[in-house]
Amino acid sequence: MPHKTLTREEVAKHNTGDDLWCIIDHKVYDLTDFVDGHPGGAVVLEQVAGKDATSAFYNLHRQEVLTKYEKLCIGIIEGEKPEVVTPGIGELSPVPYAEPLWLRPQFKSPYFNESHRALQRKVREFVETYVKPEAQEKERDGTYISQELIDRMAKNDLLAMRLGPGKHLHGKNLLGVVKGEQFDYLHDMIQAQEFVRANARGFQDGNMAGMMISLTAVLQWMPESPLKTKVVNEVLSGQKKMCLAITEAFAGSDVAGLRTTAEKTPDGKHYIVRGTKKWITNGMFSDYFVTGCRTPKGFSVLLIPRQEGVDTKLIKTSYSTTAGTAFIEFSNVKVPVGNLLGEEDKGFIVILSNFNHERFMMCCGVIRQSRTIVEECLKWCNQRIVFGKKLIEQPAIRQKLAKMISHVEANQAWLESIAYQMNNMTYAQQSKHLGGPIGLLKSFATRSAHEIADEAVNIFGGRGLTQSGMGKVVEQFHRTYKFDAILGGTEEILADLGVRQAMKEMPKCML
Ligand SMILES: Cc1cc2nc3c(=O)[nH]c(=O)nc-3n(C[C@H](O)[C@H](O)[C@H](O)COP(=O)(O)OP(=O)(O)OC[C@H]3O[C@@H](n4cnc5c(N)ncnc54)[C@H](O)[C@@H]3O)c2cc1C
Repeated sequence: MPHKTLTREEVAKHNTGDDLWCIIDHKVYDLTDFVDGHPGGAVVLEQVAGKDATSAFYNLHRQEVLTKYEKLCIGIIEGEKPEVVTPGIGELSPVPYAEPLWLRPQFKSPYFNESHRALQRKVREFVETYVKPEAQEKERDGTYISQELIDRMAKNDLLAMRLGPGKHLHGKNLLGVVKGEQFDYLHDMIQAQEFVRANARGFQDGNMAGMMISLTAVLQWMPESPLKTKVVNEVLSGQKKMCLAITEAFAGSDVAGLRTTAEKTPDGKHYIVRGTKKWITNGMFSDYFVTGCRTPKGFSVLLIPRQEGVDTKLIKTSYSTTAGTAFIEFSNVKVPVGNLLGEEDKGFIVILSNFNHERFMMCCGVIRQSRTIVEECLKWCNQRIVFGKKLIEQPAIRQKLAKMISHVEANQAWLESIAYQMNNMTYAQQSKHLGGPIGLLKSFATRSAHEIADEAVNIFGGRGLTQSGMGKVVEQFHRTYKFDAILGGTEEILADLGVRQAMKEMPKCML
């Protein structure tokens, strides 16, 4: 807070391009040396010289611009106080609907206890301090996540937490607030929802998403062995990276169509793997590939270390190359039989059961991102003035906001209910009973994202199509929400799965 107090009359005297002060949110800024550097040009600043520029500023800028240029603030208007609220690191947003209901002080929830709240605060602080700055940089320049950040996450058990509850967390005191044995699917949902607040969709996947969807299969399906211990330790400590390689150019939705083969050597000690994989997240920098292969009587899943014969090439997609999305070629790659996950020819169950946690994580992410878009729109509608009125004063705009808010609240409530069911089921029960509901939720959440992205761009106008400035978060969401609609199973496939799974329990019940 600036100490010097000034009057509006004093500010009014500094009203030329060579001596330019203005008032924003009751604070006084000396912009004299900034006039030539202003990205919007000198003329616009001269128009507000000596005046209160609060409305003009917020009509065109994000609050973060003021934070960036805080050093230009020279004082505060006598007897006045700044009104704009900016939450500090780790704090909750005061904007209505910007936080899920359970985090808002006036509401109650049956699901959450103090350990959930404590974890939420700790992860938010961590993400805002360490993840978000790097995420923004990498999203722009397309380079891969730094080893420094991976090490920091590993040290704080944030890699291990992203695999969901389980023995791999036991004996740990997670971020000093949750015992590993107590970590449940609601904690899991919380960490996932906090991580996506870095607002960098490519980086979100570049940040060990490959590990999140593949190490789960190793933990669940690889028999206990020194190899398993070594691999799990290497990956959870951040020394090695891992990805899930199922999809091929020939086989996406129809996993059964995959053509990569694993043939046993005559001595029965190895498989020889031949084939290709497409769109493999983190494939570019992975050391291990959890790979779906065709074997004589079915499918098998193998853990393949990077070695001679494994070739990865970058695929550019609509989000940043920081995700390390790869085309992979396996040319006669020799893999020990001990690297088999589950049983030979019975890999389908390994692949399918592993999908549940991946899809649950994706629901957490896209629902939280959708909420961020609601927050962006609510702020924007309260600051953008068109035809002499704030956008929020237009009934047509309020209708759009109502629709967006309703989608987000409904999806979050469904998500929390599913997380609660997961807490009360074994892995096998989840596979049997929750594959369908999780599929339906993911399918619906991305349809909601479609509606929300569409309305948000309209609300932001040209800025919703601009990669920097006011609409940058909306622009990114509109460009990338489809990743959640396709990856881990498409909307159509998951909607279909949801109904087919329900039909398995349909009694002979007539109208
Ligand atoms: C950026 C990116 C990252 C990815 N990361 C990974 C990864 O890490 N590991 C991995 O294994 N895979 C990954 N994938 C692959 C992803 O899972 C597939 O793209 C997805 O499963 C869809 O397969 P497909 O693209 O071949 O579409 P297709 O299977 O060719 O389907 C095309 C369209 O037809 C629709 N369709 C297909 N069958 C039906 C039906 N029966 N009824 C109605 N509609 C139908 C689909 O919904 C889809 O809209 C990634 C993909 C992308 C783009």
